[in-house]
Amino acid sequence: MLTNDQLAQWDRDNFFHPSTHLAQHARGDTPSRVIRTASGSHIEDRDGNRFLDAFAGLYCVNVGYGRQEIAEAIAAQARELAYYHAYVGHGTEASITLAKMILDRAPANMSKVYFGLGGSDANETNLKLVWYYNNIRGLPQKKRIISRWRGYHGSGLLTGSLTGLEAFHKKFDLPLSQVIHTEAPYYFRRANLEQSEAEFVAHCANALEALIEREGADSIAAFIGEPVLGTGGIVPPPAGYWKAIQSVLKKHDILLIADEVVTGFGRLGTMFGSTHYGIEPDLITIAKGLTSAYAPLSGSIVSDRVWKVLEQGTDENGPIGHGWTYSAHPIGAAAGIANLQLIDRLGLIRNASDVGTYLTRTMAEALADHPNVGEVRGEGMLCAVELVEDRNGRRFFDPGRKIGPQVVASMLAKDRVIARAMPQGDIIGFAPPFCLTRTEADQVVMATVAAIRAVIG
Ligand code: PLP
Repeated sequence: MLTNDQLAQWDRDNFFHPSTHLAQHARGDTPSRVIRTASGSHIEDRDGNRFLDAFAGLYCVNVGYGRQEIAEAIAAQARELAYYHAYVGHGTEASITLAKMILDRAPANMSKVYFGLGGSDANETNLKLVWYYNNIRGLPQKKRIISRWRGYHGSGLLTGSLTGLEAFHKKFDLPLSQVIHTEAPYYFRRANLEQSEAEFVAHCANALEALIEREGADSIAAFIGEPVLGTGGIVPPPAGYWKAIQSVLKKHDILLIADEVVTGFGRLGTMFGSTHYGIEPDLITIAKGLTSAYAPLSGSIVSDRVWKVLEQGTDENGPIGHGWTYSAHPIGAAAGIANLQLIDRLGLIRNASDVGTYLTRTMAEALADHPNVGEVRGEGMLCAVELVEDRNGRRFFDPGRKIGPQVVASMLAKDRVIARAMPQGDIIGFAPPFCLTRTEADQVVMATVAAIRAVIG
């Protein structure tokens, strides 16, 4: 067996890690961790250290680690048929079955699923479909996309442009001009502290409408948003937000893409975030929870309204010029089927709702009196703690102090609990597997409280 030192050397010499400080990693200045195995809510490194993974990888291992049912389904599929493509009407039993299972669970008025590999490429598909849709409708100027600051939609050229976080734009010449950003529905960080929640919602809707009018509705094709802002800070929307936004979009004939990469298949305690908030999307992006990350698979769920125009387009222009080699990969599809069956059989969405609500409530109670905790918020199995320098004046810490990353590092070192320092602000994020128990939730809360005390006092 390779020694840890050997692996660390090979890692530094050969491996280009995503979202990593490349220079520090190559120099060996930052700790690296080699994960060997995992089970339930825990992962284990090569030295046998166990960690409670309160972020389910990258909010994706929703059913928990080590599920043999999914491993067996993948192995059986690989033995029988590891690959065949889906071009020109080809399919496999697994991909056809999974498409039906997704539609059976999807919000109303959805028609078809296009399969991809990850959330970024699924959003890229959705943008191409939006452009195609408006070309077929004879509206070639109506092409730009509105996204929100702090939204996260991937890190490709267009999807990285949709993402409204500075680190994903800086030095990459993004965002591209086809994408424009509007305000995030982030009540805690509203500019005007006097605003009530209802006034803030009206303000967001007015800001959107003003942007549309400024740019011209005839140039804007779609609006994209996560039902709950994820990587931008784990921020559930204020009440009435989606209703207000949708009425602006409808008025200006702008499509709505619901990016459910995080919220799809149960994370909010309901099957889809769209139904959770009364969103009526034209396109839905799915990934992570579709297979609980046991294999890469994503999808674009297309509504009846969009699908009709796509059909018309191919009658007029021939087959749609969009496809990936690995679209509807049978191994991913087999993982997806086993994953969705497991979610149903074990009642994991109910557990996500019950234990998730317990986690956020217990966290809020434990931190209620801490002067540096500005807000504890959550929805379903998503929770966040936002740290501030001064709670009363809502003053934020100097980002250079890296309070959030320090808290997360302390949780890991002292209590072996993994949380995520969200990239913009001192926000500690939690997105545990749906199988989290109340006892594990208590551990997460205790580790968080101890780390905040250790870092801030
Ligand atoms: N959309 C959302 C809401 C996400 O959270 C992510 C990833 O975290 C993506 C899209 C991009 O997915 P991927 O990293 O699989 O490309």
